[in-house]
Amino acid sequence: MSRHIACLTFDFDVWSGFTSRGMATPTPVSRGEFGLVGAKRILRLLDKYDIRATWFIPGVIIDTYPDNTGEVVAKGHEVGHHGYSHLVPASMPPEREEAEMVRAIESIKRISGRAPRGYRSCSWDLSPVTVDLLIKHGFDYDTSMMGDDYTPYRARNGDQPTIDEPFIFGDTTKLAEIPISWSLDDHPHFEFIRTADTISPGLSNATSVLENWLDDFRYMTENDDWGVLTYTCHPYVIGRGHRMIMLEKLIRGLKDLGAEFMAMEDALDAFLAGPGHST
Ligand SMILES: [Zn+2]
Repeated sequence: MSRHIACLTFDFDVWSGFTSRGMATPTPVSRGEFGLVGAKRILRLLDKYDIRATWFIPGVIIDTYPDNTGEVVAKGHEVGHHGYSHLVPASMPPEREEAEMVRAIESIKRISGRAPRGYRSCSWDLSPVTVDLLIKHGFDYDTSMMGDDYTPYRARNGDQPTIDEPFIFGDTTKLAEIPISWSLDDHPHFEFIRTADTISPGLSNATSVLENWLDDFRYMTENDDWGVLTYTCHPYVIGRGHRMIMLEKLIRGLKDLGAEFMAMEDALDAFLAGPGHST
């Protein structure tokens, strides 16, 4: 039976993505704070279409804003792990990475009453020990890698990449990977960021991005019977008026293409129970 799943996911970073990169002056902090406004708009839209989504929330944001993040839980959405401080795992020594992972699990348990099943690394960059840590701490899935587009797979651990010899692959683990991509992430399309070394232009036309996002789903429906496509949005990015209109058009367009909307944990369960999958 054909089944085409869409996961709408929201990285509720508020200012943590800025402050963890040293952008802690009042304007970037306020720029992140707009995420609190955006989140309310998104929750209203998800309610309107009766969609259960997955919200990846850093522990520091849960602990700073228990009311705002509690609203996400109260609406029935899944809360996924997105680090504690929003520091990139690959930038931390393993002991700190594990300490932050545990601390954020505790924050999520406090707000939602249960441990997270899913993990999304900040900046989508895992350290060499992240997969081990995720398995050790009981995660069922990761959603930070790009080895496929709409077909989940098992994460590999212990790769030894080389430059001038054939690649040495690590072991396939039990951790499921629900893949993502930068092209289905609102951030690079829309956010203008200027630092001392780089400029990320962003500010794309929302209608053009919408067309790409729908066409990726359309391609899946035309070429495969089963798949799960994951969209990544940030409340302070997608929460602007013209982008909220785009998000609603995305939901309607996906419905027209026969999408089933699911939180990621439900998509994972559907994948594990799906045709042709063996554990
Ligand atoms: Zn983030």
